[in-house]
Amino acid sequence: HRHVDHATVETAQAVIDAGDFHAVIPAHETLATYRNAGGYQTLQALRDGGDVEQVQDRLLEAGLRGLGGAGFPSGRKWSFVRANPGPRYLAVNGDEGEPGTFKDRHYLERTPHLFLEGMLIAAWGVEAETCFIYMRDEYPAVRQILLQEIAALEQAGIVSKGYIDLRRGAGAYICGEESAMIESIEGKRGIPRHRPPFVAQVGIFNRPTLVHNVETLHWVARICREGPQILNSVEKNGRKGLRSYSVSGRVARPGVYLLPAGSTITDVIAAAGGMAEGHAFKAYQPGGPSSGLLPASMHDIPLDFDTLQPHGTFIGSAAVVVLSDHDSARDAALNMLRFFEAESCGQCTPCRVGCEKAVKLMQADRWDQPLLEELCTTMTDASICGLGQAAPNPIRLTIKHFPQEV
Ligand code: SF4
Repeated sequence: HRHVDHATVETAQAVIDAGDFHAVIPAHETLATYRNAGGYQTLQALRDGGDVEQVQDRLLEAGLRGLGGAGFPSGRKWSFVRANPGPRYLAVNGDEGEPGTFKDRHYLERTPHLFLEGMLIAAWGVEAETCFIYMRDEYPAVRQILLQEIAALEQAGIVSKGYIDLRRGAGAYICGEESAMIESIEGKRGIPRHRPPFVAQVGIFNRPTLVHNVETLHWVARICREGPQILNSVEKNGRKGLRSYSVSGRVARPGVYLLPAGSTITDVIAAAGGMAEGHAFKAYQPGGPSSGLLPASMHDIPLDFDTLQPHGTFIGSAAVVVLSDHDSARDAALNMLRFFEAESCGQCTPCRVGCEKAVKLMQADRWDQPLLEELCTTMTDASICGLGQAAPNPIRLTIKHFPQEV
């Protein structure tokens, strides 16, 4: 099931001294190879007189949804941004800070131009003045690849110098939240904004801003070139499309697996070579720590947008972590809350204080379940952003599915 890159991957490996550390630059598709395979012809054709509505319709027909985790229909986003007068901006969310997620890195280290062409198509779609790429600094190789390939695009005259502005994230998880990312791009402390207004209306420097995840743009390029059927013709368990699952934990071969969107955890583990030797499947995190843990008995749910909601969780960025009989669900949940405690931006009390109190309560020999539930309700109802609203998920799901451990 492993994803095979669509075009030949060329080039020598280079070791670049990137300041304090050495970044090994993986062999990736260069501009020349990508163009030889027809790359950037779609962009050119669109720039020469393409119809934006038609492109949006194709994205909707393909069923493309935001792959950063929110799952909002991609084509519809363009209309919202276009509805507001220019100048407009485009921001790429490459923060990929959700623990267990590494799919964007996977694509950027192999086929950076599919992403870059997708980004330029989206920029054309909303007539963006500038494209900001907010890239997590923990990916030094990706940064080097992008610097190199953006320079190549400038040299080839595909974009003007400075049109693509590559920004470095500084390791704050909350800067993956789109409005906090925008604050950070503006040079301020990255804290989420209240909504409305939405970033499509009031985004970077108060201008209408289109925000897309890296992988979403990869698919924009592919849909525009290959047609909506590359996604909507794949059907499994009543679901359409493909998902890039980042699989880690107790599996034989951790990695990124491109599978039908209707895949269950059984399919995902099978794609990753089965369980690691000596480990029996016990539980799984379906989509980042905010999604909490589900037990192995719930092995037949398609891991897609919408399908996990009835079970009190969600697929998010499809960061699947597999736990075995060697692991404690209780310890995993505590670890998740410690992460949220550390990464809470501190702006609102239910999250800042709530995460800290939750960690204290979860360290007790026996969890005070009514008190924890009261805390969870406050956090869910009163937190400003998704971090505080979803942080209770690991607590609630652990109480529900692993009561003997708490
Ligand atoms: Fe910050 Fe947490 Fe409030 Fe979000 S919910 S704004 S991360 S304090």
